Amino acid sequence: MFAGHVGAALAIGSADRRLNAGGLAFAALFLDFILWVFVLLGWESVTIPADFANTHQPQFTFPYSHGLLASLIWSFLAGVAALLWYAGKRGRSLSSVALVALAVFSHWWFDALVHVPELPLVADGSPKVGLGLWQNMPVALAIEALIVIVGLAFFLIGSRLSLARRLWLGSLALAILVFTVVGMTVAPPPPSTVVMAASSLVTILLVCPLVGWLGGIAAT
Ligand SMILES: [Zn+2]
Repeated sequence: MFAGHVGAALAIGSADRRLNAGGLAFAALFLDFILWVFVLLGWESVTIPADFANTHQPQFTFPYSHGLLASLIWSFLAGVAALLWYAGKRGRSLSSVALVALAVFSHWWFDALVHVPELPLVADGSPKVGLGLWQNMPVALAIEALIVIVGLAFFLIGSRLSLARRLWLGSLALAILVFTVVGMTVAPPPPSTVVMAASSLVTILLVCPLVGWLGGIAAT
């Protein structure tokens, strides 16, 4: 799931217009960001199975980025970082900090919806959860599209964005959704896990500033 996390970030952004939408998108994708960093460092692993061309589902061992306990800790740390970032900035409140932490934590719940049971509650040996919606890809992608559309609608309704910005942000959300659907349906297997990790990191680092740039005017 990629687009769905951005959709969740936009929905959360509608609750506090002073928060930067790109920052929230990065918060909502943060667990994946550290996953791919940890994969490159060899601390977590991803396997591309032989039937990837059919399933488009890599297999993950990711207790430090996607364990429930780890997700709670990362969300708390993101809240602390937001608290320090917003210290002294007028109008920012504890609720702003809580929304940043919520954006990070939302990632785990949406991932738990689609992944097979591979998200550990604590460490790698502990029980793992996952509703496995990706086993029924059309339904999973329809729900992800719905999350994006609802998140975008929440964000745009009541924002002060110009019509042009609305159209650009809507186009970006659509492009991210198409990118996600292609990645989960017809994209060929990545040549290696290193390429997969590096390209995923680049994607996150490109998309978040774009969301922030196009959606940022909502805060003015
Ligand atoms: Zn994830």
